[in-house]
Amino acid sequence: MIHQVSILGSTGSIGQSTLEVVSGRPEYAVFALSGHKNIKMLSAQCQNHRPQYAVLTDPDDAALLAREFGELGLDTVVLGGEQALQQIAADPAVDIVMAAIVGGAGLRPTFAAVQAGKKVLLANKESLVLAGQLFMDEVSRSGATLLPVDSEHNAIFQCLGNQLEVSAGVEKILLTGSGGPLLRRAIQTLSEVTPDEACAHPNWQMGRKISVDSATMMNKGLELIEACWLFGLSPDQIEIVIHPQSIVHSMVQYRDGSVLAQLGQPDMKTPIAHALAWPDRMDVPVERLNFSDIRDLQFEAVELSRFPLLKLCRQVSQMDQCYAIALNAANEIAVAAFLEGQIRFTEIQLIVEAAVNGTHPIELLSIEDVLTVDQHTRAWALQRVSERL
Ligand code: NAD
Ligand code: MG
Repeated sequence: MIHQVSILGSTGSIGQSTLEVVSGRPEYAVFALSGHKNIKMLSAQCQNHRPQYAVLTDPDDAALLAREFGELGLDTVVLGGEQALQQIAADPAVDIVMAAIVGGAGLRPTFAAVQAGKKVLLANKESLVLAGQLFMDEVSRSGATLLPVDSEHNAIFQCLGNQLEVSAGVEKILLTGSGGPLLRRAIQTLSEVTPDEACAHPNWQMGRKISVDSATMMNKGLELIEACWLFGLSPDQIEIVIHPQSIVHSMVQYRDGSVLAQLGQPDMKTPIAHALAWPDRMDVPVERLNFSDIRDLQFEAVELSRFPLLKLCRQVSQMDQCYAIALNAANEIAVAAFLEGQIRFTEIQLIVEAAVNGTHPIELLSIEDVLTVDQHTRAWALQRVSERL
């Protein structure tokens, strides 16, 4: 059987790794690819993988690419706009959707894939942070197969016996995090951290937004919320452990004292391949662990005073869903402003905290309601950044 695959966000770090994994494998056909601004890379990917559809966010960019493909004689159909992302996620011909757009922009197309009952490979953790209950309810209703790609959640899934279901024998989850590039930096110098320093992750090669989130450990906080929804756990069943080497990708502790861990090189091709091939396994040419080279695996407690956003995420994980939406939206705006050199590293947390404190919960009955809170907070956070300038 040939599986038709749509990759939402194919020009990003996860998207490119997914193409590497499926490349040269006749059992996977690339049905559709999508990009945001990087027309050149999307063009090259289409020439290589010959998908039926390519999507760009801006319709003018889409028209440019369509003209280029016309000249090249490439029969990939180019579509523009957000609606087109939902179309390639839900097309009846598609079997597998890799949800690898970064941020809240990934919610609608990922949700469309879930509504259409696809096998959904979830990298876009923000979808679950934003729409938790609505998202999981839709998975149950549609019969979609949800497979975690985030390395920690993929590890937990494997340690639970290749399933999302948490049996009564599970005592707790140990969610590991490297601590990022600022783990040992003097706290009083954090306000001087530059975008390049924040993005210089010691173990993982990732997009710039998630790299900054790793430096603040907001990423681990978002992952805590993601894990609660994916596995139906309460936040107090999840302990966060610093593990600087990123070899143990997370663990599950059982009631008899057993701890199961999933180990591997910090290479996203492993969880991507695991989710693609589930419930089988596929060969992936990633570097293997060599246990005679691994001298020590270190673990330590998180210093919450260094990572106030992680502390805030834990609080938010116990609050009304609207606070999680505000948390995520404000963080996206603040991280983008930091990457643009508009605010200091330590101002990210100030903006996110203020956004959460200023949130008034409303009832969330649909994805539209979720996006209303999201848009409202984004507008507020943008205003806050502009006042700062
Ligand atoms: P990235 O920045 O490298 O790529 C993001 C992709 O999203 C690109 O293809 C980009 O074109 C697209 N995109 C950006 N803004 C968009 C918009 N407004 N509309 C439509 N498309 C848009 O990001 P990444 O590192 O590949 O991360 C993607 C997702 O996977 C994130 O949610 C991240 O948290 C998650 N994730 C990434 C890693 C990793 O190792 N990179 C690990 C775990 C989870
Ligand atoms: Mg992760």
